[in-house]
Amino acid sequence: MAVVGPARPPAPLCPDDLVLAVIASSTQPIDAGNSDPSGTGAGADPRAVLQHVFGYGAFRGPQEAIVRHVIGGGSGLVLMPTGGGKSLCYQVPALCLPGLAVVVSPLIALMQDQVQALQQAGVAAAALHSALEAEEVSALWRQLRQGTLKLLYVSPERLLSGDLLEQLAGSGAISLFAIDEAHCVSQWGHDFRPEYRQLDQLIQRLPQVPRLALTATADPRTREDIRERLGLEKSPVFLASFDRPNIRYQVQPLDNLRRQLLPFLEQHRGQAGIVYARSRSRVDRLCAELQQAGFEAIAYHAGLEAEQRKQALQRFRLGSDVVVVATIAFGMGIDKPDVRFVVHVDLPKSLEAYYQETGRAGRDGLPAVAWMVHGGGDVAQLRRFIDDSGAAEEQKRIEHGKLEALLGFTEAPGCRRRLLLRHFGEDLEADCGNCDGCLDPQPRCDATEVARKALSAVYRTGQRFGGAHVIDVLLGANTE
Ligand code: ADP
Ligand code: ZN
Repeated sequence: MAVVGPARPPAPLCPDDLVLAVIASSTQPIDAGNSDPSGTGAGADPRAVLQHVFGYGAFRGPQEAIVRHVIGGGSGLVLMPTGGGKSLCYQVPALCLPGLAVVVSPLIALMQDQVQALQQAGVAAAALHSALEAEEVSALWRQLRQGTLKLLYVSPERLLSGDLLEQLAGSGAISLFAIDEAHCVSQWGHDFRPEYRQLDQLIQRLPQVPRLALTATADPRTREDIRERLGLEKSPVFLASFDRPNIRYQVQPLDNLRRQLLPFLEQHRGQAGIVYARSRSRVDRLCAELQQAGFEAIAYHAGLEAEQRKQALQRFRLGSDVVVVATIAFGMGIDKPDVRFVVHVDLPKSLEAYYQETGRAGRDGLPAVAWMVHGGGDVAQLRRFIDDSGAAEEQKRIEHGKLEALLGFTEAPGCRRRLLLRHFGEDLEADCGNCDGCLDPQPRCDATEVARKALSAVYRTGQRFGGAHVIDVLLGANTE
């Protein structure tokens, strides 16, 4: 008993035969072969663009299939884990197609990082957002009118406000809409943003322009929601394997946080890592404790000044032994390859959030650990948060369902990676051998009889006492 898998069985991967699922390990490159090194520009060969602009010898996993599909005028949904290489799936087509590719992105910081990298590679890319100076805006429009810009990054609300869309369409052909972080469109997703909902206007206003939606986290339900919202029901889904074999998953019940956490960190002294905690006060407290224990720890949460946050980020980026203690405010856009561990001292919001947060470990492919402790008090608190959230009943049900799936993951025996991937609709052929369930299997027993006794005691004491009292009764404790 008490063994719960993910709460709902995942939807079938192929609801219709138009869905093409390309399950491929992100570490198996497709050989670039002898491509024509004719450089870039409309009509350029994607492999040549990959080599000459981005400096890579081969596409990874399903990248090439996606790129060719988009160049051929197709739309689709790309599901790839963080670090899997989603950006190239639209950047390469943008350079092979005539016209301008419009990239919808939720955060200015993400846009700026990408645009900077593209410009360094000699690509005409720009971002349009509220932080631009007037001069920068007019320079951008000049490029647009001259038709020299190849990629324009923009937030959904900016894209759909005023007549920007018409102006863009009027100033030349839009080759492609790339919708990054596409799970933001779905309230099933863990990061719902109402502005993303309005993207259906793209379909209404420019239905002929191909749309490529991309996300790193989508359980089967979110996936179908994205397809529906973005009019991609008839387009293929490109699915890369979500497995991150170099990450070791370890989950243990909370007993005494200090006594559990410090030895773990001790094993990783001198390495970079992230410790996630739920509240700001907890972050500050933990950070101080770690500093006392001689760790190079820094705190990060939304309560800090922008300048402090910037400095924290900078230190983390540059240092190889910095431990960031953070709320989930710390995350998006962190592209540090050598994060060796990600710790959760409180339950994350959902399995999707857990997967994304732990996915920040080991991007360089070297061994990394995702380590979590969780206590029963956590669960009651999370349930209360949901009930008191003021959200619509439907939304509360969704959130409760997500919490159950997460609890199933923390409590289940057996291979944890198998469960995690199952949640994303992927089946592992064998147990992974790199999680606590595989490496340190817990003894199992048949608890039917004990469970009967416990239920009976709950019933006979009138179904109104908490666990402690029921246990006293069952053990025949010498109390009043
Ligand atoms: P995602 O957006 O999926 O998290 P990115 O697009 O940022 O991932 O890519 C992650 C990293 O992998 C980047 O450093 C990128 O340059 C690199 N990368 C992507 N595709 C390839 C490839 N085909 N060959 C080598 N490196 C690649
Ligand atoms: Zn395993």
